[in-house]
This record gives sequence, structure tokens and C-alpha cells, in this order.
Amino acid sequence: MDSNSESSSEEDIAPTELDFSLDFDPEYTEEELQQILLEEKKAEDERSRLEHRVSNAHWCTCGLCIPMPTGVESLCCREVDQIMMKNASKSCITHQEDFKTAVLNLNMIKLHRHFYVSKIKDAKEKAKWLVEDNANYRLFAYRVFILWLNNYEKLGHKVRKVIPSCVVHSIRLMWPSEDGIYKGYKEADVD
Ligand SMILES: [Zn+2]
Ligand SMILES: [Zn+2]
Repeated sequence: MDSNSESSSEEDIAPTELDFSLDFDPEYTEEELQQILLEEKKAEDERSRLEHRVSNAHWCTCGLCIPMPTGVESLCCREVDQIMMKNASKSCITHQEDFKTAVLNLNMIKLHRHFYVSKIKDAKEKAKWLVEDNANYRLFAYRVFILWLNNYEKLGHKVRKVIPSCVVHSIRLMWPSEDGIYKGYKEADVD
């Protein structure tokens, strides 16, 4: 993990990591390209719409969100319909017993990790996920949260995987990073 890891924008990608073969291999039809451009435009609009939320927590109504480095991450649990359906009380979702039992629970994390790792063939890759450290626990806690939120149903690619700031914060408090550096949005980018 380097010192840049806190920022999470795509601009961080070094040019050498970009796949230039795409420039010479037209895999998209004109229609698909239009669709991609439209999606990019939508994402850009969303980014500028949320820009004022960056680095403050005025948008939080649950009381437990923290300032985040990007607008997309600056989301309160009380803005997510799926969470509100699970949360009859007026308090933050991270105060719910159900949430604590499902997400802030090392046994649950390890159980989920066991199923996840059992599908991986590559021994090195497998070993990487089995390292007992907080970074791994956080990553699996984010996954468990998304699964819990979706009632453990298989997730399609269309499922929005944004994790509210208060949830990220509660997971970081439970399994803190030794150097205090967190990977930002990418850390929570689960599949
Ligand atoms: Zn909040
Ligand atoms: Zn909250």
C-alpha cells in the first residue's frame, strides 16, 4: 500500500497499466459506444452533483457518517431505501443488533471467506485471502454487508454496491488499519 492509496480516482492509474489494445480492436458497435458514453456522462454528472459533499458530513442525518474523500462515498445510511426497509428505528443502521450480528462479526466474516476462498483454484490467490489481517477482514465485511443488505441473494452486476459512510466507519473501527491509511472507495468495491 503506498501513500497514494487514500485517493481513489481512476486518474491514479499509471499509463502503463492501461490496455492500449482496446484502441486498435473495435469491440463495440456504434450503438454500444453511444451507450458507454451515456453511462460515462451519467457517472460524471453524479460526481459533480455530489462534489459539495466531499470532506464534510453535513449531508449525514444518522449522525454517524464521517467525511469521505469522494462524493459517491459520501452517502448516509438513511438515504438508501434498502437499508431503510431493514431499519424500523430512526437511528443509524450500524446501531441495529441485526447489523452487528451479521456484519461486525468475525465468525460471519470467516465463514463467508471460507465459501469465497473454496471457489478459488489458485493456491497463491487462496493464501492471499486467508491472511489473518484487518485489511482482509474489512474487505470481507464490506462483502458481507452487501450480501446481508440483499438478503443473501445472488447479486447481479446491476446491483449498486455503494456502502454508506457510517457503515464503512463502523467496519474500520472494528478492524482498523495499522497505519491509518484506507483505500477509499476501491476498498469497498466488492463483487
Ligand atoms: Zn449518516
Ligand atoms: Zn448511519
